[in-house]
Amino acid sequence: MTKGHFWTGARSSGSDGPEAVLFDMDGTLVETEQYWGEAMDALAERLGGRLSVAARERTVGTSMRFALGVLYADVGVVRSEQQLRADARWVEESTRELMTAGAPWRPGARELVLEVLESGLPTALVTTTPRRLAAVVLDQLAADLGTDPFDVTVCGDEVPARKPDPAPYRQAAAELRIDIARSVVIEDSLAGVTSALAAGAAVLGVPSLQPLAPAPGLALRPTLLGLRLADLAEILRAGDQADPAA
Ligand SMILES: [Mg+2]
Repeated sequence: MTKGHFWTGARSSGSDGPEAVLFDMDGTLVETEQYWGEAMDALAERLGGRLSVAARERTVGTSMRFALGVLYADVGVVRSEQQLRADARWVEESTRELMTAGAPWRPGARELVLEVLESGLPTALVTTTPRRLAAVVLDQLAADLGTDPFDVTVCGDEVPARKPDPAPYRQAAAELRIDIARSVVIEDSLAGVTSALAAGAAVLGVPSLQPLAPAPGLALRPTLLGLRLADLAEILRAGDQADPAA
């Protein structure tokens, strides 16, 4: 989804800065990734089991179908397609209720989003969460900032394939009309990092519920606290050096 007003001017961060900054939502900007975990734990209990920590970790940032497959295997149940759809609706509704109660910013995220907004750089939110749920969080962020900070928002039900496929980041770049190879993506999960790297972006990984291993083109930080736009330019330059095609 693209906002009415649209950035068309000169790059404001200098010629060596990023062309755009793209953010993941759950676990990166807001402390909502654990809401999905709470809902998955509750579903496992409803199915008479208990979701292991390892299985929960494998589901972070993935599609609902993949996550439920992991849960069923972990708990040891077989569910029909119809039951899977009902379970998906139940997990989504439980998560939506938790998100409605509050979606607090991750440390440093609000300050970085504000700096990117004030710089005039094109910016997108790229999430696997479906629009119906993401809207609950986006409304809270817009209310807190007094404006919708994203030029483009791409949700999990609006793409041909979900993260770790590169499609969501490619779609956001096309809607922003920017070169993804000159952009920085901020992600917390392995699925998200894999998606963004495959799309060709420089990636800043800020792990939340899942550890992230070093990879070419991936910069790692424990949090976004104190992170500035100038640091993203540095991450882009380091990503260029890591890319043998650059
Ligand atoms: Mg995430």
